[in-house]
Amino acid sequence: MNSIKKMLKDKIKSLAKAYKEEVIANRRHLHANPELSYQEFNTAKFVKEKLQKIGISTIESKANTGWVALIEGKNPSKRVVALRADMDALPIIEANEVSYKSQNPGVMHACGHDAHTASLLGAAKILNEVKDDFEGTIKLIFQPGEEVAPGGASLMIADKVLENPRPNGIIGQHVMPFIEVGKVGFRPGIYMASADEIYVTVKGKGGHAAMPETLIDPVLIASHMIVALQQVVSRAASPKIPSVLSFGRVEALGATNVIPNEVKIQGTFRTLDEEWRAKAHEKMLSIAHGIVEGMGGEVDFEIKKGYPFLNNDPELTYRSHQAAIAYLGEENVLDLDIWMAAEDFAFYSQEVEGCFYRLGTRNESKGITSGVHTPTFDIDEDALEIGAGLMAFLAVSELEKA
Ligand SMILES: [Zn+2]
Ligand SMILES: [Zn+2]
Repeated sequence: MNSIKKMLKDKIKSLAKAYKEEVIANRRHLHANPELSYQEFNTAKFVKEKLQKIGISTIESKANTGWVALIEGKNPSKRVVALRADMDALPIIEANEVSYKSQNPGVMHACGHDAHTASLLGAAKILNEVKDDFEGTIKLIFQPGEEVAPGGASLMIADKVLENPRPNGIIGQHVMPFIEVGKVGFRPGIYMASADEIYVTVKGKGGHAAMPETLIDPVLIASHMIVALQQVVSRAASPKIPSVLSFGRVEALGATNVIPNEVKIQGTFRTLDEEWRAKAHEKMLSIAHGIVEGMGGEVDFEIKKGYPFLNNDPELTYRSHQAAIAYLGEENVLDLDIWMAAEDFAFYSQEVEGCFYRLGTRNESKGITSGVHTPTFDIDEDALEIGAGLMAFLAVSELEKA
């Protein structure tokens, strides 16, 4: 690392330390005032006020409750790097007894998006302060609706968030309760899964359970279908491409002696390859139709396409990984495994080079171990100093790329 970059790194580190309490206060405000996907009106207002207070004047509304803002360094057209945070919360009743507990009953920041937003506001304050020390432009993206289809990212992209100027790359961070506070994790290449929702209705002919010869039993047909569909992941899928097909809901509203007219099944299909994903959809449809052809009845087989798989650009991710080592030390930067959850950051990474990394927030000694999307999820707020500082450093490091 050259001496100018080392100076900038030290400057960013000391600013991250100085602004830590403010980032924590912002996170607590957001945590206490969570809003559901696409309803982030007060959150958006809060973010805009903070950006203006920092002194950032180029702020544009996107996708109704999102913002895009610019911080220009010297020679602003040299390179452009985007940093992204999501702002929405989940329909969960918070079980934590903390001073910043959700004041909006039934809604909770249980996925850490409060931490992402507060960290990006912190990074924005740092970057605005050092803007005479770097060349290029930083694009700040605060998006709505990560948790609910079609995904706020897809709406932001449709609203031209990646244009004027178009970023060379985009970086996003997400809390990770399985990684110790103080550490972060990266994975180049394929990282997270595509996720599609499956809604099946099997229609038969119900009646008295003692007279099966007069019925078309949708319970038996649906049972065969669930078993047969597993062929998609066990036989049709390449063993080299991870795939998951799970059915979590089966509804047959009959009784011991009543066969219902129809059975509903719901499930999820996840994988890590777009070509195989499309093929798997066809295969599922043909298996389901083949079963009703043989057994009778009819089937409605709906596949609702969700987020695509998330691919981390190998080079951008390598450079970010190296920058994180420079910032945190080698022992604090981990290699991540594939994660079969889905994330709408994937939409950005299909448009421009993307790097989605994990911020460790776990602290067993403080009892902070709950997973995301649970009523007891919380973070060790010491992570926020890294959340803000590292993001700022990754951005300026990326701008320096020749
Ligand atoms: Zn989530
Ligand atoms: Zn999330």
